[in-house]
Amino acid sequence: MDVQREILETDILVVGAGPAGLALALRLAHLVEQDSQLDMPEVLVMEKGAYVGAHALSGAVMDPRGLAELIPDYREKGAPLEAAVSGDAMYHLSENGAIRFPFLPPSFSNHGNYVVSLNKLVAWLGEQVEAAGVDVYAGLAGYDLIIENERVTGVQTVDMGLDKEGQPKSNFEPGSVIRARVTVLCEGVHGSLTRRALENIPGLAAGAVPQAYLTGVKEVWEVPAGRVKAGRVVHTIGYPQPSHEYGGGWIYAMSDTMVSVGYAVGLNSPDPTNDPHMKFQRYKSHPLVKEILDGGTMLHYGAKTIPDNGYYSIPRLYHDGLVLCGDSAGMLNPQKLKGIHLAIKSGILAAETLVDCLKAQDFSAAALKGYQDRFEGSWAGKELYRTRNFHAGFHGGLYAGLFHGAAQLVTGGRGFFSRRSKKEDHEYMLTLDAYRRRFGRDPSKTEIKLDNQYTYDKLTDVYKSGTAHEEEQPSHLQISDPDICNNRCTEEYGNPCQHFCPAQVYEMVDDPARPGKTKLQLTPSNCVHCKTCDIADPYQVIRWVTPQGGEGPNYTNC
Ligand code: SF4
Repeated sequence: MDVQREILETDILVVGAGPAGLALALRLAHLVEQDSQLDMPEVLVMEKGAYVGAHALSGAVMDPRGLAELIPDYREKGAPLEAAVSGDAMYHLSENGAIRFPFLPPSFSNHGNYVVSLNKLVAWLGEQVEAAGVDVYAGLAGYDLIIENERVTGVQTVDMGLDKEGQPKSNFEPGSVIRARVTVLCEGVHGSLTRRALENIPGLAAGAVPQAYLTGVKEVWEVPAGRVKAGRVVHTIGYPQPSHEYGGGWIYAMSDTMVSVGYAVGLNSPDPTNDPHMKFQRYKSHPLVKEILDGGTMLHYGAKTIPDNGYYSIPRLYHDGLVLCGDSAGMLNPQKLKGIHLAIKSGILAAETLVDCLKAQDFSAAALKGYQDRFEGSWAGKELYRTRNFHAGFHGGLYAGLFHGAAQLVTGGRGFFSRRSKKEDHEYMLTLDAYRRRFGRDPSKTEIKLDNQYTYDKLTDVYKSGTAHEEEQPSHLQISDPDICNNRCTEEYGNPCQHFCPAQVYEMVDDPARPGKTKLQLTPSNCVHCKTCDIADPYQVIRWVTPQGGEGPNYTNC
């Protein structure tokens, strides 16, 4: 469509008001304030959620190191910390049993950490940023990254007011072009603009091992007093994941009566019926979890992917006019499954580098390389290096992973190998036939009867995520070849999308034009923006693109 677009100009464009983007904006404002020779540059922070924090989701137990560097008096300033960690335990679960690990190695300990609601923490960080004089534009979604002459020059925002066929409605407003001297991508896991950068900028992903993703599914429950103590942190491995698949669960006590309970499932599963939502429902049925939830009320739901391969999957962090921070760059400690502190630190270090760039009036790759050097030399870079082989140690299954993990603890993170190569997650999925040949049985759909008391169907959970999209707009789930979905995928894989999506966006329904056959039906308005489909689709014909700004989940207390 040929339309006239408004062109806006700024110095620094930050895409994503999460921990990394907000830390960058706040540190930058503080550094400029302290430097009499520097004027505050124009900074524009854009956030696709309806409000700051609307799309922020995590377990979450936060290591406060990054926040303490950003805002040393964060407690006095009222940072929303639900509870200081008061106790830590890890269990191995079988279907009905639970064995507690007798001790936790120090690197797994959560002593000194806080149970938080990430979306509340991010909303509070947004207030600090605005108080420092930086504007944050919620409801503004980036559609495309603009790359001109191999330099990133900004972002085009999403067109508003198109119908399902992409034709303008009466309220049509074309997206703007925001030109920036530097664009900072902090858009979270598997962001669509980051993906465009990685696919189109030569050398940006060179040498990085393919990312390994988990899909984490969580609920927040209010439970009767006496079940948990505020700050209690429990992690589990085992049930319901089979031992050859990666994943585990958590129960975090946000208060004496509020718990975050969740389960994360590796997307490198051989099982084409891998269903993170259903596995989470089975997890909640385990006696260890059920006795906590018994008599409680489920309040909130959310799902997102987690980048879990750590150090070796981090791409180059800079290019001409471009910086990558936080989850967009895969900054997560896979041993602790924690990334909030790393995201904040990456934002701080990027801000320090941008101050150098402002002084030199140079936003070239050579100038922005200072950010990579700072990151590698920081505690965050060293923490990621120490845990560089953790996820890869589990390629042989749970027990091999625990053995490798122990070896890494005494070899400075090396273990028995280093930089193990890996395929893309979707390449591990087996066809139905191949699965039967390898395991001697059909893939288990892992379904249980849902009771609507402890266990819920996907639609009930989606309702609890507050998700909302305008129905009359082009689908933000683009299927490049529907024929593959309706024929080849049905035969070969049994349409895994209907299982792995935690929001029931994908369904196979009877095809009236082909009696006895089914066709794919999409309900994009259910989408909680987790990105699982973009990652796990075995044919890679699904592409998640950004819908209109202000849509998607509306997380509260998640
Ligand atoms: Fe996640 Fe894709 Fe389902 Fe949306 S459609 S909820 S991104 S799997």
